[in-house]
This record gives sequence, C-alpha cells and structure tokens, in this order.
Amino acid sequence: MRILVVEDEENVANFIRQGLAEEGYVVDTATDGELALDYAQTYTYDLILLDVLLPKIDGRDVARTLRRRGLSVPIIMLTALDTVDNRVEGLDSGADDYLVKPFAYRELLARIRARTRTHQGGSEPNELEIADLSLNRLTRQVKRGDQPVTLTAKEFSLLEYLMLHPGQVLSRTQLGEQVWGYDFFNQSNIVDVYVGYLRRKLDDGQEQPLIHTVRGVGYKIAAEE
Ligand code: CA
Repeated sequence: MRILVVEDEENVANFIRQGLAEEGYVVDTATDGELALDYAQTYTYDLILLDVLLPKIDGRDVARTLRRRGLSVPIIMLTALDTVDNRVEGLDSGADDYLVKPFAYRELLARIRARTRTHQGGSEPNELEIADLSLNRLTRQVKRGDQPVTLTAKEFSLLEYLMLHPGQVLSRTQLGEQVWGYDFFNQSNIVDVYVGYLRRKLDDGQEQPLIHTVRGVGYKIAAEE
C-alpha cells in the first residue's frame, strides 16, 4: 500500500516515513501543499496523511482541491490545532479523519488500517489469488498451496502490486515507482533483484511458475505464460 505523507517539518516527516516503511507501507513525502497536489495527481495512493499548516497551499485547501478533482482517496489530517472549529473545518474540507499532534504512533497506525479497510471495500479485494498462490492484504499472509511464505516488506509490496494486475505486463519503472516510491529513479537493477527473491520463495521447486519475464518489457504474474 502506498501512502503520501504531506508534512513540512522534516523531522516529523522522517519519523512518520520511517515508521510506516517498517510496517511495509510505501511512503512518498511532500513538503508543501503544491507538491502534495502534484504527487496526488501523478501517483495513485491508498491514503494521504495531510498536515494542516503547510507552505504554499494550506492542508485544508489541498483536501478541498483533491475532492473537487474527484479523488476519493482517504485523507487523515494531522495538526497541532486542537479546537472544535479546527476539527470541523478539517473534516468539512474533505478529510475523513483528524489526528491531533503529538499523537501516539499506535493510534496513527490503527487509523490508517481503519481508513484503508473501509476504502478497499470499494474496488480492490483484500484477498488476492493466482492459481494456488494467495495474498491477504490485511493480514499480510502469503501462501503457495497450503505453505505459508514469509516475505520482507518490499517483497510483499512487489508481489501485491503484481497480483493486483494479474496477466498484465508491468515495466521495471512501474514496479520500481510503486514499490520504492519516487525515490526510485531506474537507478539500478533493484526490481530484477527483488523479482529474483520472490521467484526463489514462490516458484522454486514448483511445477507451475507464476512470475514471468517479458523480455525487453518487464514482468507479469499469471497462471500461464
Ligand atoms: Ca506544518
């Protein structure tokens, strides 16, 4: 799952980013309201954490603009402004939830889980399956046949993205941006390396390999070549 963190205070942004990455989320950070709108327009996010007091464009205006553009991505506002008026204005601007700084990290994680859970009720299922491979996006369990497979956070994100697009050829750039965020600049063979890890864990010793290389293009996951 990919989250956009919009926060101008660098230490707060880094703290949130690091914690979420440890939980297996892919995190992009934007340091002002203008960048936030650019990123939200360019990439698809499962959730946006949005600070209210931001340079260039205020967080509430960012939320309003996103809603006006028809984006339904869940937004949790983060703010130091804890008055009833501020909370109401935040929610009225289009945010789904509101968290007052300083917040407990566990609470932030719980709210992210709650928001992404309701949102996913819409289009994308939580239980993904290809042949005898299954992945649960909520419990983060992966199984090939009845054998559980243990994946690292990045391996999980890569497999999740492949499984959300069964049979579709995905380029290294697409996969890189989805799994490593905009830090990914096609800089290395990191995608190939991680596809290699996944193959070792999922396909080695199996009669039916599921991850396929499409020469010159990228990779796909499918029951048949
Ligand atoms: Ca701020």
